[in-house]
Amino acid sequence: MSILSGKGKVKLDGQKGLTKDKPILTIDTPDVIYVPLVLGVATDFDVHVKEGDHVCIGTKLATRKSMYVPIYSPVSGTVKGIEKRMHASKRLQNHIVIENDHKDERVKAYEVADPDHMSQEDVIKAIKELGIVGLGGSGFPTYMKYENVQNIETILINGVECEPFLTSDHVAMKRDIKALFDGAHYMIKAAGAKKAIIAIKEHKPDLMELLVEEAKNYDNIEPREVPDRYPMGWERVLVRTVFKKEYDRLPAEIGVIVNNSSTAIALSKGIRNGEAITRRVVTFSGNGLKNPQNVDVAIGTPVNYIVEKIGGYIDDDCDGFLVGGGPMMGKSVMNDTFVIYSHNNAITVMKKENIQPLPCLKCGECTLHCPMHLQPVRIMQAEKAANVELIEKLDTGRCVECGMCTYICPSKIEVTDMVAKAKRRMQLAQRKKNA
Ligand code: SF4
Ligand code: SF4
Repeated sequence: MSILSGKGKVKLDGQKGLTKDKPILTIDTPDVIYVPLVLGVATDFDVHVKEGDHVCIGTKLATRKSMYVPIYSPVSGTVKGIEKRMHASKRLQNHIVIENDHKDERVKAYEVADPDHMSQEDVIKAIKELGIVGLGGSGFPTYMKYENVQNIETILINGVECEPFLTSDHVAMKRDIKALFDGAHYMIKAAGAKKAIIAIKEHKPDLMELLVEEAKNYDNIEPREVPDRYPMGWERVLVRTVFKKEYDRLPAEIGVIVNNSSTAIALSKGIRNGEAITRRVVTFSGNGLKNPQNVDVAIGTPVNYIVEKIGGYIDDDCDGFLVGGGPMMGKSVMNDTFVIYSHNNAITVMKKENIQPLPCLKCGECTLHCPMHLQPVRIMQAEKAANVELIEKLDTGRCVECGMCTYICPSKIEVTDMVAKAKRRMQLAQRKKNA
């Protein structure tokens, strides 16, 4: 099968033109910031501040307990306490509330004595203490990819951003091209690797030109174009495309560590300036917004505040469909009161459409295009029958919820939702069995 087509690779209407050439708009920090005590699915944090404490940008606020990750204040001001608020995960979660004094007082989140002479251990420690996490959507602690690894040849910087509407990585790479290469250089050091490849999608001459120019300053960092197919930005597909190799659990098995491009930028800013991830670039796009835009915004800023700043919704009563992330892999959210979190790369607002699904045609398109080689239509049937045994047999746990089966379905069936439901049913049954 061709590497450019067939299973798991479809050319989508990217809709990137809505935002990719507009300048990044810096959003003023609001009077109150709500820093979520959530990282990926983890909510276990030790909080180091209390009501009445004064904090600066860069003050350590809390640390994740089970897997060490510190989080830092995005504003200077006064801690007002901890409040349960609706989170993008559609659950009430703890948030540290900080009243912003708008003085922007700063402290270094982590100080590196000599950024130009760091050992491998120094870099890994900096990644850990700065709280660097995967900014492409995972929120996975970056240092975990570097501790105790051996025989890493290549760092693969993922700047592919294959989901429709998303351009936050694209514009961040253009704005911070030097930091991107500098971060990649530190990642090479952290892994003891030989080189880095920065992968972007084809047909981006403006970005490629900048990458090629900056690469002249490095003999071990190479820009690389990959085909414009979905889900090319997904780690396994990207590694397969670039290296023509498969791995079982982790790319490290074949000598590769993959990091998102915005993560590399954050690492450089952390080591050079002592900055933690307290702001990020987020794409606000979709046909439900008057003025789609990339924004540079503080973590903990409410989404409705940002939407208002960029011109609002098409319908004043916000009769749209809001997604945290892109339309393929993002998760729908109930309203716009939740806040931006560190690994939140996009908010997509789509006008509501009244689509009536048709019966399954048994056409097999979903099976043909599943990048995990699953049989979504059979999983869907097993879910309808609540047949946990069959759901397990169909290897449903390997579904990455990429959205491809829904996208490709000619009957407009929400196949991905059904597969995701089946996955949860199976996980619940397994947990009950092991309890
Ligand atoms: S959502 Fe899951 S089942 Fe559907 S195509 Fe993606 S990996 Fe396959
Ligand atoms: S793509 Fe849709 S219609 Fe075709 S088999 Fe899958 S679920 Fe049925």
